[in-house]
Amino acid sequence: MRRALVAGGSGFVGSHLCDRLIDENYEVVILDSLVTGRKKNITHLIEKGVQFIEGNIADDLSYLKGPFDEIYNMASPASPVDFKTMPIYILETSGQGHKNLLELGKRTGAKVLFASSSEVYGDAEKHPQKEDYFGNVNCAGERGCYDEAKRFGEALSMAYKREHGVDVRIVRIFNTYGPRMRPDDGRVIPNFFSQVIQGKSLTIYGDGKQTRSLCYVTDLVDGIFKLMQSNCSEPVNIGNPFETTILDIADSVQRVCGSKNELIFQELPENDPKLRKPDISKASSLLSWKPQYSLKDGLEKTYEYFRAELTQ
Ligand code: UDP
Repeated sequence: MRRALVAGGSGFVGSHLCDRLIDENYEVVILDSLVTGRKKNITHLIEKGVQFIEGNIADDLSYLKGPFDEIYNMASPASPVDFKTMPIYILETSGQGHKNLLELGKRTGAKVLFASSSEVYGDAEKHPQKEDYFGNVNCAGERGCYDEAKRFGEALSMAYKREHGVDVRIVRIFNTYGPRMRPDDGRVIPNFFSQVIQGKSLTIYGDGKQTRSLCYVTDLVDGIFKLMQSNCSEPVNIGNPFETTILDIADSVQRVCGSKNELIFQELPENDPKLRKPDISKASSLLSWKPQYSLKDGLEKTYEYFRAELTQ
């Protein structure tokens, strides 16, 4: 039986990844600081006997004994709201935190996957974004803490591969949504569903013509799992290339919910990327991966979750 450590395993994406690993018959150890992760995301796994450790990856990890075959670093606050409230913690997580996990990989011989982000491309000047695009990031802006943390985490991963031969994987995650997102997390999908369910106006930042490409969470997890099983240490984009404006997303959410709430327009956050769409030709040729969920099907499942979460 293979043994995996999932840092950030009680978060939104991390908990779905743990579900997948359990389905694949892994022994899973979850390490999470619970700063943005929630224990309720993994109660069903703890009940099945999965080990949960409350801890911060940026602290000394010598208590983790291994053996581990695979280490997944899914640990980081990831909402633009968090960029304002905990920028230092975000930098520490992908800095000292990721270094500690790479050291653990070196010590135990485990492969180490870093959950990077489309944010490494910043406010991209190339569209769609391909892995060989170096990006357009304002390191001193409000999003800089996250963008640079992810860029540093990638650089650190490659440095550990080159200097110590650690077998690393880097996934660049594009916008993802689905059950277990925090309703108050501040991102577009939780905001729109919470606002519709609570009968409030939907908040559109800027003119709403900026684009995003939304991937349903189990599709993302499938790509992450396949990347770990591949032998590719270079960064790989995983996301759904179906591109929509924020206004279209508001419309799709309202159609799924059968609502017609008002829209209110608010100021666009600093350095908010104007266009985002992954080029997934690398994932497609290397991993034979492509997303399965349409936006409508994914939003329907997500609506069920938010309705239960907000009306209980
Ligand atoms: N957005 C919006 N209304 C909201 C939340 C977000 O119009 O209530 C916009 C935001 O400005 C951005 C897009 O939706 O252009 C996606 O934002 P999110 O915070 O989900 O993630 P990002 O892709 O910016 O990291």
